[in-house]
Amino acid sequence: MNNNQKLKEFLQEKKSILITTHVRPDGDAIGSSLALYIFLKNAGHKVMLAFPTSYASVYNWFPEINESKVFSSDEKEILNFTEQADIIFVVDFNQLSRNGDFGKILSKSKKTKVLIDHHPEPEDIFDYHFWTTKYSAAAEGIYDFIKLIDENGIKNLDIATCLYAAIVFDTGSFRYQSVSKKTHTITADLFEAGIDHDKIQQHVNDNFTENRMKLWGYCLNDKLTILHKSNAAYISLSKEEFANFDAKAGYTEGLVNLPLGIENIEISVLIVEKEEQIKLSFRSKTNFPVNKFAKQYFNGGGHRNAAGGESKLSLEKTIKLFEEKVKLEMGEYSL
Ligand code: 5GP
Ligand code: MN
Repeated sequence: MNNNQKLKEFLQEKKSILITTHVRPDGDAIGSSLALYIFLKNAGHKVMLAFPTSYASVYNWFPEINESKVFSSDEKEILNFTEQADIIFVVDFNQLSRNGDFGKILSKSKKTKVLIDHHPEPEDIFDYHFWTTKYSAAAEGIYDFIKLIDENGIKNLDIATCLYAAIVFDTGSFRYQSVSKKTHTITADLFEAGIDHDKIQQHVNDNFTENRMKLWGYCLNDKLTILHKSNAAYISLSKEEFANFDAKAGYTEGLVNLPLGIENIEISVLIVEKEEQIKLSFRSKTNFPVNKFAKQYFNGGGHRNAAGGESKLSLEKTIKLFEEKVKLEMGEYSL
């Protein structure tokens, strides 16, 4: 019997199941974990979906998201549930130790753990995997898991809606290199479940407040810097600039992709000053591995074409460091 068949057998009885995702959960983390939550709950299990940190309000439309818990506000309830859970599902990330206070608690837990993810280099702590970097979104792993347990599970409209939103989010609406035949085959099944695809696309893509749109306008008009010789572009934002637009969590989500729309720009970086550190988002549209770049210089990681990192330096010094390193590295790669 292959390992995942053993998992199927284990789940034949009613279990107590904890699901969690990465900090600052994005559309894939939220859609994938909610689809899994709804599926397992409908199968009669006792399930808790616990986010390590809160999610942005643009995700409030997701089915059943009100039933989820957030570690910063529901810590006691989450810890009690974790204590008595039979199994833990880890969705859209694979380095527990990096995942805030809740991640540190989980990494010490001896419970059975299932990984459903698509990031490189998973920690060696999982008992079961639905993992490959070939998945365009963790949602493809959720699809594989649901199909294994119940051939018809994917036909539930709320589950299909969550999975479609997750895929749309992580593929830039089916644009990125990560999109495969399998992505479209899965999507065909989601259509069969009756998803309202244009409505979901609107939820994912057309969800700006006026202030958020103006912040993006300001970033493109006043803050975009092009490093022509390096085929790179970056936008930086200080805490003050962020506050000037009454910006909230999620306001800069997706902004880093826009400079890639400029011809010859291979790498785009967004550098945002937060309370305690500087957060960097990296994107590339060629074979330049931004995950390696983020890991080497900004204590980060991610995928080849989409990665993140951080810096404890000032905003000014972080920008300088980025400029220096991008000039150093870009010589090796070109369009
Ligand atoms: P984003 O730029 O959208 O925040 O993140 C893009 C990708 O990079 C995601 O897959 C995310 O998991 C990964 N990522 C973002 N920030 C970090 C970080 O600080 N460290 C690591 N290892 N990965 C990150
Ligand atoms: Mn993802």
